[in-house]
Parts: sequence; C-alpha cells; structure tokens
Amino acid sequence: MVKNPDTGKRISRPNPRDQWQTIDVPELRIIADTLWDRVQDLKGEKVRLTSQAKRRPPHLLSGLLRCGCCGPGMSVHDRDKTGKTRIRCSAVRESGSCSNRRIIYLPDVEKAVLGVWPRN
Ligand SMILES: [Zn+2]
Repeated sequence: MVKNPDTGKRISRPNPRDQWQTIDVPELRIIADTLWDRVQDLKGEKVRLTSQAKRRPPHLLSGLLRCGCCGPGMSVHDRDKTGKTRIRCSAVRESGSCSNRRIIYLPDVEKAVLGVWPRN
C-alpha cells in the first residue's frame, strides 16, 4: 500500500510478480495431495474424452430410431468384438420398463434403411 502525496489516499499497488516470495505451507492445505492429483488426472481424462467425442461423427440414424414395443429411442448398447455397434431400447437399460431386450446391430439397420439389405 502506498499513499498518494496529493490526496493522502491509500492506493494498493501489487508488487511485480517476480518480486513475490512464496513458501510452501503444507499444513494449510485443505485438500489431500492424493485427492488433488486424482482430480487433476480425471480432469485431463475428461478433456481427452470430450475432444474424442467431438471428432467422432454421429451415426447416420442418431436420434431417429424408436423402440417398436415402447416407443422411445433406441440407444447405442455396446460394440461387439469386431467393433460393430449394437443398439437396444434405452428404456430397458434406464428403467427396465420395456420388455424388448433385443440387441440389434446398427450397421444392419442402416443397410435396411438405405435399401442395400441383402435379398435372399
Ligand atoms: Zn422399448
């Protein structure tokens, strides 16, 4: 704090950053180091996952497929060993209120919609 010689008012003037003196005071820490490190890891992971999700284009039929039994949307269930996406009624997983437990290959649905379904 310095006083303005003309007005006598006290003015706050922070020291330049390179003149700051810092010391570690571990006993004043409010978060355990292990927890802090874990959270920093998670934050990094989240950023990475979010940018990955942004790169991946949505599916052709994202948000358009409906369950034939209960009506609401189908959602991605998982991928099989070969990486093919499988979908399922989202109500089955979320509330169990639908009995349509069938798991369907999304590429098969896309082919059917596009009219390239193999005819037997
Ligand atoms: Zn359903």
